Amino acid sequence: MALSAAIFGTGVSGLCAGVELCKAGHNVTLFEKAGEAAIASCSWLAGGMLAPWCEAEHAPNDVVTLGQEALSWWCDYTPSFQRKGSLVLTPARDRQELTHFARRTSHYEWIDEEALSALEPDLSGRFSKGLYFAQEAHLDPRQALLDLVAWLKEAGACFETGTTKVPCDVKGDFDHVIDCRGLAAQDVRDDLRGVRGEMLLLKTSDISLSRPVRLLHPRHPLYIVPRENNIFMLGATMIESNDRRGVTARSMVELLNSAYALHPAFAEAEIVDMQADIRPAYEDNIPRIDERQGITYINGMYRHGFLLAPAMAMQLAGRLKM
Ligand SMILES: Cc1cc2nc3c(=O)[nH]c(=O)nc-3n(C[C@H](O)[C@H](O)[C@H](O)COP(=O)(O)OP(=O)(O)OC[C@H]3O[C@@H](n4cnc5c(N)ncnc54)[C@H](O)[C@@H]3O)c2cc1C
Repeated sequence: MALSAAIFGTGVSGLCAGVELCKAGHNVTLFEKAGEAAIASCSWLAGGMLAPWCEAEHAPNDVVTLGQEALSWWCDYTPSFQRKGSLVLTPARDRQELTHFARRTSHYEWIDEEALSALEPDLSGRFSKGLYFAQEAHLDPRQALLDLVAWLKEAGACFETGTTKVPCDVKGDFDHVIDCRGLAAQDVRDDLRGVRGEMLLLKTSDISLSRPVRLLHPRHPLYIVPRENNIFMLGATMIESNDRRGVTARSMVELLNSAYALHPAFAEAEIVDMQADIRPAYEDNIPRIDERQGITYINGMYRHGFLLAPAMAMQLAGRLKM
């Protein structure tokens, strides 16, 4: 007999969990506090880089291993998935940053100016050396989240948006209750902390890129992820804070300066969106699934929601089968 599952939160954690539980034959209901699924989540602001090998620069091996599962998972759910690799560059004066990055990562090749021009013609002549991670991928997070919502509806999952409930309110009504509320779960979990992230969306037809580019800098590292319709996602700050204000002037200037350093064409770009949100993280910056008083928690995605939510969702489906 099919079991019923209530999932709280329709960010990337809740939606991926919903997909895997539907596939496992559960009757899934997703509860979301906002009036619409996905759009009020921290996930809505993500860059959408699926870059497990680059993340090894600062993340433990678990992130690299689990993150590789995302590469095959996402390609089944969103046409916005693209596997074109990613680039890591730095201005000549910060070359030691590139060497340091290379020492801590794997699955890249060093490229020279000519190879860079072949990959990204618009960056021709601007950088003489770089790292190319050919197996990495990216997606458009907003499109990907909406694609998951559509998949879930098609699969028969129910959505209860605008809810005022919290997971413990529905404990007796479902076989399983899963809390994927991101930072909102701080109301019951004092082991969660917030890491503020700010991002901008720029629009310009003066430059085109085919893949995410990271620009290393000792103080303001930046990445740019290209999207459809001449849109570029520019991110992201990492600030130990639960501060939910909008993007600060300082962060905006630093992000834009770095974009300009990558290519002056960004100076004339239109800023079409600018937002900040708080990434949910545990002390070790590694997500986990655990259970407390009859509620299962998937949380602590930190800066790896799109990279790690598929693996966590598959683990959840495996656990609930037992
Ligand atoms: C600027 C920025 C860039 C990023 N870039 C990347 C990237 O390139 N790649 C990557 O993998 N990750 C990236 N991340 C990290 C990623 O966005 C997070 O890890 C991820 O969003 C966490 O997802 P989540 O589903 O756990 O939480 P959230 O996305 O925050 O979702 C939680 C949901 O729960 C809902 N909720 C809250 N309370 C309730 C309630 N009582 N009932 C029901 N619902 C409730 C919220 O409204 C929300 O929809 C980035 C983050 C930021 C801020």
